[in-house]
Amino acid sequence: MRDKIVAGNWKMNLTSEEAIRLTEDIKIQLSTNALKDVKLILIPSYIYLEKMKSYLNNTGVFLGAQDVSSRNNGAYTGEVSASMLKSIGVDYCLLGHSERRQYHKENNEGLSEKLYRLIENKLTPIFCIGETLEEREGGQLYEIIKNQLKPALDLKENYFKKIILAYEPVWAIGTGLTATSHQAQEMHAFIRKEVEKGFGDGVASETSILYGGSCKPSNAQELFTCKDVDGGLIGGASLVAEDFISIANSFTK
Ligand code: PEP
Repeated sequence: MRDKIVAGNWKMNLTSEEAIRLTEDIKIQLSTNALKDVKLILIPSYIYLEKMKSYLNNTGVFLGAQDVSSRNNGAYTGEVSASMLKSIGVDYCLLGHSERRQYHKENNEGLSEKLYRLIENKLTPIFCIGETLEEREGGQLYEIIKNQLKPALDLKENYFKKIILAYEPVWAIGTGLTATSHQAQEMHAFIRKEVEKGFGDGVASETSILYGGSCKPSNAQELFTCKDVDGGLIGGASLVAEDFISIANSFTK
């Protein structure tokens, strides 16, 4: 059985006060809408992580960071290491989000290093991949996804088993355009097949693959019903407690 997961990427949003209010609102929602068998992860800005950790005590909700340094420690001004994140109780970390690939020129080499740093420090990477509209329409879809998967598939098997994958078509992120359930299932099945080629059927069937891209309460159920979709990475809708918890309660399988 694969883990079902819903993760909220808050990106560079919210003041400290707003972040705590949203955390409290999520707790209130959870007290009246108990989740069934779904792992919930909140991914705020670095600077709110430690404070949110204490607010989330005993709720079963996990915390994730939005990025990590590729270095262990030392003279790297402005960077945050995997061991620092672990030391404040962070368990997950996004890697390779399309906004970081676009604005910070994240590439496979750097992402490989970050994957190692996270896994060695016992954090779970949520490794994001996804094509732009030009790439999809230009017929390069499968090659692009295969290439983006490389840092994950190059890991040793016992390392790969620690990661979560997230398929996020760039054209659907923050645009209001959502992949149809057919498009999402097709890509998730392709990604799982690539994992199977690398590590065999057992590992592939245990790997959680999340969908991200304008997922909201009105389309989550249809997406999460797809055989190979194991949950969602949610941007905009994760900033509204009611919507986020409604998405997390959209599994029918
Ligand atoms: C994201 O940024 O990971 C994302 C899926 O954003 P949105 O839900 O707003 O499209």
